[in-house]
Amino acid sequence: MEIDAVMKNSLQACNDYKKIAPEQKANFLETIAKEMEALGNALIETASNETNLPAERLVGERNRTTMQLRMFASMVREGSWVEASIDTAIPDRKPVPKPDLRKMLIPLGPVIVFGASNFPLAYSTAGGDTASALAAGCSVVVKAHPAHAATSAMVYDAIKNAIEKCKMPEHVFQHVADEGFQTGKDLVQHPLTAAVGFTGSLSGGRALYDYAHERKNPIPVFSEMGSINPILFLPDTLEKNCDALVKMYAGSITLGMGQFCTNPGLMIAVKSKGLNTFLEKLSEEVSKFVPSKMLHEGIQRSYTEKMETALAQKGVTTIKQDEKTNGIKTRAVIATASGETFLKNPLLHEEIFGPYSLMIQCSNMEELLRVWMTVSGQLTTSIMGTEKDFNENKTLIDMAPSIAGRINFNHPPTGVEVCASMVHGGPYPATTDSRFTAVGINGVKRWVRPVCFQNCPEYLLPDELKNSNPKKIWRLINNKFQNGDVE
Ligand code: NAP
Repeated sequence: MEIDAVMKNSLQACNDYKKIAPEQKANFLETIAKEMEALGNALIETASNETNLPAERLVGERNRTTMQLRMFASMVREGSWVEASIDTAIPDRKPVPKPDLRKMLIPLGPVIVFGASNFPLAYSTAGGDTASALAAGCSVVVKAHPAHAATSAMVYDAIKNAIEKCKMPEHVFQHVADEGFQTGKDLVQHPLTAAVGFTGSLSGGRALYDYAHERKNPIPVFSEMGSINPILFLPDTLEKNCDALVKMYAGSITLGMGQFCTNPGLMIAVKSKGLNTFLEKLSEEVSKFVPSKMLHEGIQRSYTEKMETALAQKGVTTIKQDEKTNGIKTRAVIATASGETFLKNPLLHEEIFGPYSLMIQCSNMEELLRVWMTVSGQLTTSIMGTEKDFNENKTLIDMAPSIAGRINFNHPPTGVEVCASMVHGGPYPATTDSRFTAVGINGVKRWVRPVCFQNCPEYLLPDELKNSNPKKIWRLINNKFQNGDVE
């Protein structure tokens, strides 16, 4: 694969694509959704064969993928997402006249998207990164994940059909299926690449970030990486709601064989009788879980190795769990350790991608707070408590935003809603840029930058910044949000 040719084609396509009217771009995104749906059951079967994920889950994931494409289509059609802002001139201002200034968001250029192994549809070829980048007006080059290469190729065909049907520039979307890190590195380091989107391991996401910063002209890399999503269980709720918490967390820890970036990998509570009962019941419930094959052999091997290494650490124990192996070696594990053990051993802070969770039993609330604040940046954190717990622990609630992008109250971290208020991001190492979300409409902000036109003649301005506003998009005009014309 000639990367240089791919990137030259991508830049040319980007330059043509950004001139295309929003309505046509919206139709294009909707046509990709329709073409994906037209692949029918063959897509689900291929993805299931490649990833070991059940058909039911993949049907849900396809629906989410097409919903995301349609959500971005609506956003593009409506138009206010460009955040147009207009400050009209004040020629007689003293001591100096004020010029006319008009600002909006414009596409960055060709974007490289690395498909994720654990979301073969929703975070891969036509997933959230691709949909948001195309919505922004960028061209996209996907580096297919080798664990679901055939699924990726099928979705690529669907996008090619949409390109043809909607008469889009041929290379607005390209697909690179070469295996090996060199291809990924070459794509990130190509001088025409403008930005990178990635979901996967900390080592992979960090490597791409470093490649991008070695370049003569560094570019943004939006890597969504590891997270252990700490859960605080406060004393009153452990006492009063034990059975409901056991059901909720046994389900969340084992959901999809734990192969979610929002899996609850770390639980934290103060030692108590209520905690003992919770741990016993949780271990019992989790031991009923019948494992299935993980996404690919590498992930299965990595889970077993990391889990066994963690269990071999001094001070880490498991509560007796029956092993339901279903012919598969992988098992779900609830481990426990003291606050002191956790604080001393950084290995216990690392993500173990799979159905594993470590409960830290703290001596008191001060230690709980230290344990919680020691964990590095997270996608989510959750606080489980009654009203009494919340009222007695206001400091915890005040501190939560400093460690994670999403704070759940009496809700498990798994299940990422796609909507405008979602934040799927967080301080490093959860992501390489905590200011952005990878899920929801605001994901588009990763692929744009603001540009200001000063004293630009009306006829040269982009439509969004002209005086007349026939589409009635929302704009900040002289510091007031409105959707009318400039008077
Ligand atoms: P990965 O190893 O990070 O790979 C993802 C993609 O990035 C692949 O296309 C891979 O290239 C590429 N890549 C990785 N390292 C690279 C490097 N140094 N240079 C260039 N390209 C690189 O993720 P994975 O294969 O999906 O799973 C491996 C582990 O990642 C899992 O065991 C799990 O721990 C973790 N993971 C975490 C999440 C999460 O959301 N937290 C999601 C998925 C996986 P190739 O195509 O050449 O392999």
